[in-house]
Amino acid sequence: MSKLVIVGTVAFDAIETPFGKTDKILGGAATFIGLAASHFNVDSAAVSVVGGDFPQKYLDLLSNRNINIDGVEIVKEGKTFFWSGRYHNDMNSRDTLATELNVLADFNPVVPEAYKNAEVVMLGNLHPIVQMGVLDQMTTKPKLTILDTMNFWMDCALDDLHNVMKKIDVITINDEEARQLTGEYSLVVAARKIHEMGPKYVVIKKGEHGALLFHDDHMFYAPALPLEEVFDPTGAGDTFAGGFAGYLAKTEDYSFENMKNAVIYGSTLASFCVEKFGTERMVDLENSEVHKRMQQFKQLTQFNIELS
Ligand code: AMP
Repeated sequence: MSKLVIVGTVAFDAIETPFGKTDKILGGAATFIGLAASHFNVDSAAVSVVGGDFPQKYLDLLSNRNINIDGVEIVKEGKTFFWSGRYHNDMNSRDTLATELNVLADFNPVVPEAYKNAEVVMLGNLHPIVQMGVLDQMTTKPKLTILDTMNFWMDCALDDLHNVMKKIDVITINDEEARQLTGEYSLVVAARKIHEMGPKYVVIKKGEHGALLFHDDHMFYAPALPLEEVFDPTGAGDTFAGGFAGYLAKTEDYSFENMKNAVIYGSTLASFCVEKFGTERMVDLENSEVHKRMQQFKQLTQFNIELS
């Protein structure tokens, strides 16, 4: 089994959707990624930072899912990263109401010694300089590096983002961000341009419309599972990335063929994430539920047609 290093925010989120509103609840990219990856029993470690205001029970929640938190720094006198967002009625788009970097502003990531030789590195949404700082600490070249990012970093650290993109294997990005990064409307053209920026594999997440995987001239598409209830899409992208990374770390097969399965696992896990606010659905999600939904996914997408 491979080791997996997960870098990203561990955060407080306040969310508004057409179905309700929360105060500060547990969120953050590394949190969602870690919870999703924990379904594959990989040896994972989170690298992040929180303030003295961050409750111990949230850290315990991560440890209880076998996520090593030695690399989660606690800055006692600082405040935890805070993000707030409001979803539109279609639930596919949102406005960011607040991004307070707080302790993240001066964060110097430290990868725990035991994880510096991890085979898989998942660089969750964070400042690209921090993402690069983690890559630089790896003592052996990882077999797979995956990077997730968002428009916020494109707006304020585009050159740094380009630098880290040259060093990674896979990028996961949403459709709107792929268009912003390349200036192209067609996602096929956008993926080609992103390839030219570095990553050999490009995953474009399309929310309720699934995800596309590109590699050279190959393309694979997985729909999102149509759900009766979508409550809060926050963290769906990170959950997808965590499922994708966790599955690849478990199977140790980093081929395009196996990445197709990883995309399906990522989509399946993300389908649970959106059913409740924040991390609520993910914290006690059972493997048996994931398995059942994977079967539904297979039925949804399988067809037999004779082509002459
Ligand atoms: P997603 O819905 O997958 O894009 O992820 C939402 C999570 O990303 C939330 O839990 C936030 O705490 C976190 N987040 C929002 N903005 C940022 C940012 N600029 N950098 C890092 N993480 C962020």
